[in-house]
Amino acid sequence: MDLNTPQPLLTSEPMVDPFGRTISYLRLSVTDRCDFRCVYCMSEHMTFLPKRDLLSLEELERLCGVFMTRGVRKIRLTGGEPLVRRGIMELIGNLGAHVKSGQLDELTITTNASQLSRFATDLYAAGVRRINVSIDTLEAEKFASITRWGRLHQVLDGITAALEAGLKVKLNTVALKGINDTEIPSMIEWAHGLGMDFTVIEVMPLGEVGENRMDNFLPLSELRETLSQRWTMEDLADRTGGPASYVRVRETGGRLGFITPLSNNFCEGCNRVRVSCTGQLYTCLGQEGSIELREPLRASLNNEALDQAINKAIGSKPKGHDFGIEGGKMTGGIARHMSETGG
Ligand code: SAM
Ligand code: SF4
Repeated sequence: MDLNTPQPLLTSEPMVDPFGRTISYLRLSVTDRCDFRCVYCMSEHMTFLPKRDLLSLEELERLCGVFMTRGVRKIRLTGGEPLVRRGIMELIGNLGAHVKSGQLDELTITTNASQLSRFATDLYAAGVRRINVSIDTLEAEKFASITRWGRLHQVLDGITAALEAGLKVKLNTVALKGINDTEIPSMIEWAHGLGMDFTVIEVMPLGEVGENRMDNFLPLSELRETLSQRWTMEDLADRTGGPASYVRVRETGGRLGFITPLSNNFCEGCNRVRVSCTGQLYTCLGQEGSIELREPLRASLNNEALDQAINKAIGSKPKGHDFGIEGGKMTGGIARHMSETGG
């Protein structure tokens, strides 16, 4: 049987976790590799997974198909850097067909933009309409030191290409005390001026990176206070089942999001699960619990075992993460890097 052929639906039961939350959003990491080494995300000398452990593009697609039969309406591809995975546009094209047919509401990606100049037009043609781009500074030297391997001009060119291709771009910035905190207001002005939403994120204790993340931790309550002296921020009701709370900045007219996993936890509305590039299903970004989908995926072309594994995972989805700050230290951290689960 051709693995690309849609498998018979064994169940189309929606995925509802023990807390009554319906799962309709899949974040799929397509690679743990990246062309950057951001200081808060990776150590300089990362050991990556052997290529044989990775799911093939066909397997990733089949997995997405199974999740769609179980009620997933939105898929975000992430990584590592999703656009460095060889052949990725083939997967994006095939998944995009489900957006065009109405089976998916949205297909999107989170990217560092390094490859966007090459791919922006193809992404739009495939049916992608919105993307998230991670960028922590607009200063070239600082950019090189945060990302270790990245070059700012390449990323700015990528963002320009995305906007020109008609993609709606949301920028994500990790707030880093003493590194980019004073620059964030001008980044917001720049982003809003170009019609891009902007979201700031608190750094989270995910994986060993050879640095103490607490040294640069900035509670977003502090940043919000600073920003409110400059601008009028009107609370927005927008909630996407995600962890961000949004405001409209009256003076710029743009949307600004705050993701505050450490200082404020928004897990109660969580509608998502994450699958790694090896087929590990993580029920929470901030907990160790996971269920392996690769074995049931490879064991049979029939999706029954896969469906059962998914049921088991959803039945064990935790209420939320345990990140916090106590005695000047980050607590509730886990060993897994963000690049493994997918951001
Ligand atoms: N490479 C792509 C990118 O950078 O957009 C996608 C993967 S990256 C892991 C996804 C997001 O996770 C990025 O916005 C990055 O800033 C964020 N991230 C990585 N490690 C983090 C950490 N320890 N705390 C908070 N955010 C983190
Ligand atoms: Fe790569 Fe994204 Fe992690 Fe930076 S944040 S090292 S771009 S995966």
